[in-house]
Amino acid sequence: MKNKINEIKKRALEEIGKAKTFEAVEALRVKYSGRKSELTNVLRGLKDLSPKERKEIGELSNHTKQIIESELDKKELKIKNEELSHIDKKEKIDVTYPGKKTAKGHLHPLTQVRYAIEAIFKSMGFLVVEDREVEDEFHNFDAMNMPRNHPARDMQDTFWLKNGCVPRTHTSSVQARFMEKNKPPFRIISLGRVYRNENTDATHESNFHQTEGLIVDKSGKVTVANAKSIISEFMKGLFGESTKIRLRPSYFPFVEPGFEFDASCPYCKGEGCRICKKTGWIELGGAGMVNQNVFTSVGFNEDKYEGFAFGFGIERLAMIKYGIDDIRLFHAGDLRFLQQF
Ligand SMILES: [Zn+2]
Repeated sequence: MKNKINEIKKRALEEIGKAKTFEAVEALRVKYSGRKSELTNVLRGLKDLSPKERKEIGELSNHTKQIIESELDKKELKIKNEELSHIDKKEKIDVTYPGKKTAKGHLHPLTQVRYAIEAIFKSMGFLVVEDREVEDEFHNFDAMNMPRNHPARDMQDTFWLKNGCVPRTHTSSVQARFMEKNKPPFRIISLGRVYRNENTDATHESNFHQTEGLIVDKSGKVTVANAKSIISEFMKGLFGESTKIRLRPSYFPFVEPGFEFDASCPYCKGEGCRICKKTGWIELGGAGMVNQNVFTSVGFNEDKYEGFAFGFGIERLAMIKYGIDDIRLFHAGDLRFLQQF
């Protein structure tokens, strides 16, 4: 029986030595150390032996089993290490090698300016509101004191849709919708795309962005002076602390009195340069005390409230901020332009 066990051990170690794969090692494990192994079969004859021999053979077979199992484990580890070293060679990583720079996207210059505008107004307690881009005639025109046949409608060349709606010509329509649902006091800004049926050139686009602001409170609480200081704070926030503003009388149907406002040129600080056409001032937008007709059209009692409204083009602000001389660049999708911001 001893010989038989030693013979099994010899054969097992030989076969383990030759095994080259996990599968082969696993098959040998079954053959030499499993419950149905040759060694187990031999031990079935133990019952015919004397107690002394039984002890001796028992110890020998246990020892042999341990040796075989330890050899199987060693072999398995060896195969694993060989596979890993193989992977190492194929996928070698040199941690000292300089990394590849991945291209990173960034926000469009108009979005950057839009976020800057929002941040400045939010810091002054304004709420940012949004609404639909396709508007009905009432909210785009009538509510803004521009009833049908009002000559002011000609100031805004409009795309008309077959159903009588319009791609909004200004973001004032957002203010009309807000006032229908909210009672003063409030201060809001609305930002977004607007559409005009215009030929495009360096300073005109048929699709551009506006920001409009509106402050409404009980009569006597909103004055031109308040509004001027808000516009002034905004311009300082965007173009720098030394920026000055001025108001010039003008006409817009939704305000009375109306103004246009200019900011001192951020490039020449008022000295006169190419950007400001030698005037030292840059025309930026329109403003004024809200016309009472606007309030009545959204259901506010006449003369109960007063308000100040202002608006400007986001492209125009971005052009001045970054010194861009052609509005068409914003929508051209030219990476050479966009990568500069
Ligand atoms: Zn200038």
